[in-house]
Amino acid sequence: MAVAASSASVASVPVDNFMNILTCPVNHQPLVDAVTLVPCMHKINAGPALRIFGGELTIPLKGMKLDGFVNKSQLCPHLGCKSIVTAYYVDDAYRSVVKALLASKDIVGVPFPGKRAFFQIINDCWGLPGQAMAELSFASCTPDSLFDEVIVLGKHDRSIGIYIRVEAKHRNAVATYMEALGIPLEKYDKVAGRFRAESHKDVKMLFRVLDENNDIPSKYREVIRLVVEEGRW
Ligand SMILES: [Zn+2]
Repeated sequence: MAVAASSASVASVPVDNFMNILTCPVNHQPLVDAVTLVPCMHKINAGPALRIFGGELTIPLKGMKLDGFVNKSQLCPHLGCKSIVTAYYVDDAYRSVVKALLASKDIVGVPFPGKRAFFQIINDCWGLPGQAMAELSFASCTPDSLFDEVIVLGKHDRSIGIYIRVEAKHRNAVATYMEALGIPLEKYDKVAGRFRAESHKDVKMLFRVLDENNDIPSKYREVIRLVVEEGRW
């Protein structure tokens, strides 16, 4: 359907930008309520559009129809865009594509939105006799990789946690990507700048994302794969 038809044009967009174009630059949410701004044709979500540009909306946001009317002429909020917005309208086609992509839980169908990291071990406290906690930490040695740092924790209760640190500039791309994979946004800790997975389901998914799109030294990869599968260390 619409997704298949659109995939050809989407494929020509550089992968780094792929998730960014699906994310509202104002409220940082997926563009499921996209409106198109005139004349630059950039997209933002309807809520922020109403707040920034005004308009005569008396019906609830869901299922609303916007006419192209703007109360306040303002600059387009997209970085580097100098257009003064004169109108905006609901973009149903764009909304459908974003929703379809977000509904896809298939990791293969959602491109990793950045550079693959080669990780090197920076802390190996794993498998020591009698220890109450275990930790493996890795740092990326690839400049500007999407993921910076990974920590795999074996906790007091023998459960596993995985933490992935992401630089602020990649945050929106990663958040949208994670959402598309069914890993909710609240898993992102803004202060620490990292995603965390603690339930067995989330740990498995996050490890899969990590493993399929980055390089972990094979000796450690095997250790992590086994405990993640098991759900205990
Ligand atoms: Zn614009």
